[in-house]
Amino acid sequence: MRPLEARISLSALAHNLEVARRHAGSAKILAVVKAGAYGHGLVRSARALAEADGYAVLNVDEAVLLRQLGIEKPILMLEGPFDAEDLRACAEFNLMPVLHSPHQLAWLQQAAAPLSVFLKFNTGMNRLGFPLAEFEKILERARAEAKVSQITLMTHFATADEDFGIDWQWRNFIVRAGASGLPVSAANSAALLRYPETRRDWVRAGIMLYGASPFADVSAAELDLRPAMTLHSRIIALQQLKPGEAAGYGLTYMADAPTRAGIVACGYADGYPRHAPTGTPVLVNGRRTRTLGRVSMDMLAVDLTAIPEAGIGSPVLLWGEGLPVEEVARAAGTISYELLCALAPRVALKEE
Ligand SMILES: *Cc1c(COP(=O)(O)O)cnc(C)c1O
Repeated sequence: MRPLEARISLSALAHNLEVARRHAGSAKILAVVKAGAYGHGLVRSARALAEADGYAVLNVDEAVLLRQLGIEKPILMLEGPFDAEDLRACAEFNLMPVLHSPHQLAWLQQAAAPLSVFLKFNTGMNRLGFPLAEFEKILERARAEAKVSQITLMTHFATADEDFGIDWQWRNFIVRAGASGLPVSAANSAALLRYPETRRDWVRAGIMLYGASPFADVSAAELDLRPAMTLHSRIIALQQLKPGEAAGYGLTYMADAPTRAGIVACGYADGYPRHAPTGTPVLVNGRRTRTLGRVSMDMLAVDLTAIPEAGIGSPVLLWGEGLPVEEVARAAGTISYELLCALAPRVALKEE
């Protein structure tokens, strides 16, 4: 059997939720489980995160799956209804839709029962949300809606993880939201960890629950977060390169000294980033080394020159416990979110 597997630590998920709880104080936590719980598996992750106060998902299918598991907690639809039928499903399954655009307000009449809605305002990210300049008008309209039983005011930060911070968005939003007396939801993981003032009523914690740091300058370990996914494989072949010999497609890596290469059963069709250059960190037998040359569809090469005891069958850790996924992401010019979410369906997930 091909030796690649992603081990999912249920205790790490539960631990990270406790960390979120410490930061959230009296705010309620929506565990963000979109994209198959960031690649960790929706069902198992929702169960492991059972102490959350609710969940946030992308679409009705994910929400219904949670309801079918018997989960009765609040479920937020992060982008709201995509059509009128989604809006009807919100009433049927007791889901809380985000409403971010006028066409969604128009669908409200179709709901069979009044809904608790998250009214989303655009405070500078310019992705989803009503213009903040229309705050009073939109709020008035939502309050007059017979099919709205509860309104929570929501916004989303574009730079909570960066030096630019949240103030430029937060100040304009909270003067209006605060004056309304309605509940507020603003914080993602980065804001929850760094900007206590944004915690308010509902926080939306995603990446931190999976044990990755949202910040470039603070590690997950420093935040007391534990990686929930560890991607494991093994060495399936060995190559001895002489100086001047190359490895992999495009011959992008050329040995300048005798080099012992190991071929690992993991490639870009598994979700390992093809853009990871020579030198991307990897652990073999628990020891840190580097990738060599281009990542293939089903394989990649690693440098075993300094790990002479490694051979066929030696364990390889691509990311996770002992090698933060953030480091691999940085080397590949991307972020941990993308690597976790892009884990291919063909990779076996094993619970631990
Ligand atoms: C995905 C998402 C989150 C979670 O963000 P993290 O950075 O993973 O914590 C929060 N809010 C919204 C609207 C999202 O789409």
